[in-house]
Amino acid sequence: MKITIVQLGKIPESVLTAIASELRESLNLSTETTNPIEIPKEILNPIRQQYPAPLVLKFLSEKFKGKTLGITDKDLYAENLNFVFGQAYCPGNYAVVSICRLNPTFYKQKPNENLLIERAVKEAVHEVGHMLGLDHCTISTCVMSFSNTVGDVDRKNKNFCQSCQRRIWV
Ligand SMILES: [Zn+2]
Ligand SMILES: [Zn+2]
Repeated sequence: MKITIVQLGKIPESVLTAIASELRESLNLSTETTNPIEIPKEILNPIRQQYPAPLVLKFLSEKFKGKTLGITDKDLYAENLNFVFGQAYCPGNYAVVSICRLNPTFYKQKPNENLLIERAVKEAVHEVGHMLGLDHCTISTCVMSFSNTVGDVDRKNKNFCQSCQRRIWV
């Protein structure tokens, strides 16, 4: 199975490369990464200065065919949530991850590229897991556990627990 990784804005090469190689290795997907494109300005919520994740997914679905993962540096939100690290159709072909709040600099901490990469890889695998039909997992170390904060992201690892893993390959 192939997945298209769409650069929404300018995403560090190291982040894109790490996500692509993890998706190839852990999920056996073949990957293709696009040139950067911008999320249409009309989608921006000017009051919140954030983009609604459902409309970003809709935008991706109008522009790309097949399994598609958008990576953006813009801040995303969804109904009833102040922000989301990502969102996906579950199951479906479209997912998006925001690296905005995965970046230590967002919290006024010093830049840490490795930490940003590690978090982005986890959230990308998480959203692709949703695309493949997985729901949230109650095991806190499983990549499919829900993350409310970067602390939650740091607590889990980039792999599926045995039970989630089994459900993917069935
Ligand atoms: Zn989730
Ligand atoms: Zn799990």
